[in-house]
Amino acid sequence: AGRPAGLSVVLVGDDPASAVYVRSKGKATRAAGMHGVEHVLPADTTQPALMTLVDRLNADPAIDGILVQLPLPRHLDEWAVVSRIDPDKDVDGLHPVNVGRLANGVPGLRPCTPLGSLLLLEGLGAPLAGQEAVVLGRSQLVGRPVAQLLVNANCTVTVAHSRTRDVAAHVGRADIVIAAVGIPGFVKADWVKPGATVIDVGINRVAGGLVGDVDPAVAEVAGALTPVPGGVGPMTIACLLRNTLEAACRREGVAFGL
Ligand code: NAP
Repeated sequence: AGRPAGLSVVLVGDDPASAVYVRSKGKATRAAGMHGVEHVLPADTTQPALMTLVDRLNADPAIDGILVQLPLPRHLDEWAVVSRIDPDKDVDGLHPVNVGRLANGVPGLRPCTPLGSLLLLEGLGAPLAGQEAVVLGRSQLVGRPVAQLLVNANCTVTVAHSRTRDVAAHVGRADIVIAAVGIPGFVKADWVKPGATVIDVGINRVAGGLVGDVDPAVAEVAGALTPVPGGVGPMTIACLLRNTLEAACRREGVAFGL
């Protein structure tokens, strides 16, 4: 369409982890040749001021994707802010319209971390249809959407959470394990079926650096295990760019071929 795809990332406040994510998203956007704009607002930004910025970005023809970095400071209503984003610019895939599109299995922007996890699985080349998949975690951000993507890919899906009895037994029959619980080394080697594919979504800050939700010893049993850092994290950013390109193609009426 003769112009670069445009992504706006909005950061409110000075949470150090969020600032790192926003910076790396901005860097990746520009490295891909896209138009990247970061809006860094003070921690005491009001709800009306944030809504006004979202409205402005919704109306900006150079912006195809809008991402408001979560979590927001406690005085702001995240649900109201995410719901204000134009669903067709909602590259985080968290707007209720996109949640509904995913639930119905119709095209729409998908949340980046779940989409990145699915693309990793598809990249292995084995058919996903009929595979037993166990998702550990049921958050709006990761567990639920990744489970829906797997159902849409014809896997047989179990979603485990903090009230699940005998998580190890569920993991033991899985061909695919997606770990998104936020507990360092939660999934143990003796839980995993030999040859299973294990996607470690967890990013946990511990004394020695960043670790995942999967014990590294799982690598000796699994057929494949994603590393932390360096696995799902970079895929999340790649999928943000992919979603931005998809949103731009839709807005311009250009075929999206990825
Ligand atoms: P979250 O909102 O805290 O959700 C954690 C989920 O784990 C909840 O559903 C919880 O169950 C479940 N859980 C907790 N303890 C459990 C247990 N003992 N057994 C089974 N399930 C248990 O976290 P999230 O946002 O989904 O993130 C999960 C992890 O992924 C975190 O480490 C986060 O940093 C990481 N993450 C990584 C990326 C990336 O780009 N790689 C992106 C997002 C998140 P209940 O619902 O019952 O409480």
